[in-house]
Amino acid sequence: MNFPIYDLHCDMLSYLAKVPNANPFSSEDIACAVPLLQKGNVKLQVMAIYTDVRPGSMALARKQADIFQELLQNHPETFAFFEPDKEIKSDQIGIMASIENAAGLGEEHASWKEIEQQLEAILESVGKLAYISLTHHTENRFGGGNYTEAIGLKADGKRLLDWMSGKRIPIDLSHTSDLLAAGILNHIDQQNLDIPVIASHSNYRSIWDHKRNLTDEFAQEIIRRKGIIGVNFLRAFLDNSVPERLFEHILHGFEIGGDNAQSFGADFFYTGDFPDPSRYPFYFPLAENASKYPEILETLKGSLSASQLGKLAYQNVRNFYQNLYT
Ligand SMILES: [Zn+2]
Repeated sequence: MNFPIYDLHCDMLSYLAKVPNANPFSSEDIACAVPLLQKGNVKLQVMAIYTDVRPGSMALARKQADIFQELLQNHPETFAFFEPDKEIKSDQIGIMASIENAAGLGEEHASWKEIEQQLEAILESVGKLAYISLTHHTENRFGGGNYTEAIGLKADGKRLLDWMSGKRIPIDLSHTSDLLAAGILNHIDQQNLDIPVIASHSNYRSIWDHKRNLTDEFAQEIIRRKGIIGVNFLRAFLDNSVPERLFEHILHGFEIGGDNAQSFGADFFYTGDFPDPSRYPFYFPLAENASKYPEILETLKGSLSASQLGKLAYQNVRNFYQNLYT
């Protein structure tokens, strides 16, 4: 299978911003290092600007936006700014940035003027944002993350959605509480906002019951709105002990009507400083790094048609961003 691969999520930028002597070419350090992306034929890699909810998150987000720009400037032979209609040369990787946790846009006590300046400065550095996720696992001023239960969309979350409307920036449901996901969808509908809805790196709760995974209800709502859903390769969100569950998640996406939605969102990040020992190993060998996409497609040959494999590999993501930008 030599399809190009378009992947919706990795954490290369926070690795480069936080780890001393970090190097985007170091396959030892991070599973989405350049040689692995090249081996996997990755032609779009969305790189998230990830921050925790803590003082200093806005500065850390700006640092990651600058690093994104430096990757393009310092390595033009390796990285190209992704545009859905532009041919990416062989060995080159198209990249786009995204926001994983709006704590990077606005700390808890930042004024709205500061938040808007932050958004504009980040957009200036990264060109386009592939998506914004309001939260990560915890709560912030915008709403409740995956591991909060009774916290939905807050007034600041509504205000950020209002700002996003018409700006061709999708909202990402991968790190919402269920209440926040419902709040986002309701607010978009009630206010008639023009905001596409995606899940950049999420699996299905009906295959593996985990708060980090999507209910079929939310997945189908994304599909109905012509959004995309990237399958996540992390063991904890697939099934702790059955590697092949990866294929079941992907097939489930097609089964619930996601022929034009199911995509990749592998979620490779720097695991060297992760505190929770139960998470090791983070990935099963069959999906342990960005070189593995062709083998994954090969395994799915018996279950999906050639046209469905092409949609999964890149076409669904390409069509989504083509529609968004034209
Ligand atoms: Zn994530």
